[in-house]
Formats: sequence, C-alpha cells, structure tokens
Amino acid sequence: MIVQIDKLSISKPFTASSEIPAERCNEYFAEMGLGDEKALGPMTYSVTLTNRGKHIDFEADLKVPLALSCSRCGQDFTRDFEMHLQLKLVEASSFGNAEEIELKADDLDTITYRLPNFLVDDILLESVDLELDEQCLCSESCKGVCFNCGQNLNLGDCSCPKS
Ligand SMILES: [Zn+2]
Ligand SMILES: [Zn+2]
Repeated sequence: MIVQIDKLSISKPFTASSEIPAERCNEYFAEMGLGDEKALGPMTYSVTLTNRGKHIDFEADLKVPLALSCSRCGQDFTRDFEMHLQLKLVEASSFGNAEEIELKADDLDTITYRLPNFLVDDILLESVDLELDEQCLCSESCKGVCFNCGQNLNLGDCSCPKS
C-alpha cells in the first residue's frame, strides 16, 4: 500500500486495511532478512495515519503466519505472529543534511519518508524483520541446547556431567 502523505488532511486520521502476499513477504525477508523467517500466508494489516503538521503519527496492527527457527534451541516452529506498531514519521527533507537523517533513523520510534509517497508495506516488513532478529523463541521456557553435546534440552536431559 502506498499512502500519499501530501493528501492527508491535518488532524483527520486516515485508516486503511490491506494485505501483503506471502511471496512479497518472503522476497523481502530473503533480500533484507537478518533472520530466517518465512511467511506461510499473506500478512494482513490495518494502519492509521494522522497528519500532525510537522510529523505524521503512524499506527499499525499486523498479523502473519510464519515459519521460524528458535534462536535458543534451533528448533523450527510456526506461529501466527502479531505486532502493534506506533511510529512517528518525519519528512526527510525537513532535516538539514543526510547525516541528521541517519541519526534520526537510528531512533527506533522515528522514521523518515520522502514526499509524496509513503511505502507502508516496506515499513511493516522491516519492523517484523527487526523484531524477529532481536529474539525469537519457540517458547518462553525454551531450555536451549547443551553446549557440550548439542542435545536439545527441551526433549530431555543429556548425560553430560553438570558442573
Ligand atoms: Zn527453543
Ligand atoms: Zn550434553
């Protein structure tokens, strides 16, 4: 979905729902992906953009069925991944130079866009990718693997001596 930022009226929220085909999600994850997630179906989402004059408030709820690998035990699993996003969009040219834009882009809650169009899909895909790269566990109580023999400790203890 592409939103024409300059068409948003001041303070009047713009709401829309759409979906991103699984093929497009996987294309993105493969190109930009830090982890090894794979979409098993389309990402569905709804977004609200509110023009505040100097910036745009951006809110999104998304859902996508994913095949994932646990970052602790390495086990593959699937999950209906859901995420709520709240971001502040600032027009890129309202910053003095490229350096400042970079600095702002490091701030997780603020992202820049270029007029006139804002690419919603890319922001959503990037956010999912970053979120999953931080930590992705098959379960909160995942025991991981034995560093000595490699046994998946969720499936039972290994016989390595415990020090
Ligand atoms: Zn695990
Ligand atoms: Zn062991």
